[in-house]
Amino acid sequence: MIIKKAELEAVTARKDQYPEDNLKEIAFAGRSNVGKSSLLNLLTGRKKLAKVSGSPGKTRTINFYRINDTFRIVDLPGYGYAKVSKSLSETWGSMMETYFENRQGLIKVVQLVDIRHAPSKQDVQMYDFLRHYGLDGLVVATKADKVSRNEMQKCIRQIRTALKLSQDDKVIPVSSLKKIGHEELLSEMEVLLED
Ligand code: GDP
Repeated sequence: MIIKKAELEAVTARKDQYPEDNLKEIAFAGRSNVGKSSLLNLLTGRKKLAKVSGSPGKTRTINFYRINDTFRIVDLPGYGYAKVSKSLSETWGSMMETYFENRQGLIKVVQLVDIRHAPSKQDVQMYDFLRHYGLDGLVVATKADKVSRNEMQKCIRQIRTALKLSQDDKVIPVSSLKKIGHEELLSEMEVLLED
């Protein structure tokens, strides 16, 4: 799949702000600073579509990007930033629930985890949350340039174990810095959108 057109369609904090039609959507989730904005920019070929943040944990909105006028990429707010207050993390949880429960076009949530580290407790919680909604099955291991080829397999096994992935679940190593893995991810997305 080639992304020819990508435009920010809506920045939302509430359900009534979501785009109204039922275009298919693939959302992206991950803890703050995992490299989500960099990945979205690489996927869409737009350097500044999503903001790469110097200070993590600031995005508190669900952002909808209209792609090729045929589907949407949805940028979910990052989680797990230490300085976030309890009330803010409660808001985050209810924002996720509202979106997952009410979105007919939503077909998959790509879970991002940092390839170098064992998934955090919150990564595991997030993935369980996706499993609950039947939106699990596709994981991207970010910042793959930070590990050697040898280490990569070990890191991926660690991610598979921690998230309790099944054989059918996919883990795609990606580096936005080195531009590796994004084409494989786009192919997976294409398959999902065709189903
Ligand atoms: P977000 O908070 O999840 O949207 O993460 P960002 O895309 O803003 O990236 C957070 C930090 O990780 C930034 O300093 C990026 O430059 C860095 N980063 C993102 N992707 C990669 C990558 O593929 N490799 C490396 N080495 N660093 C990355």
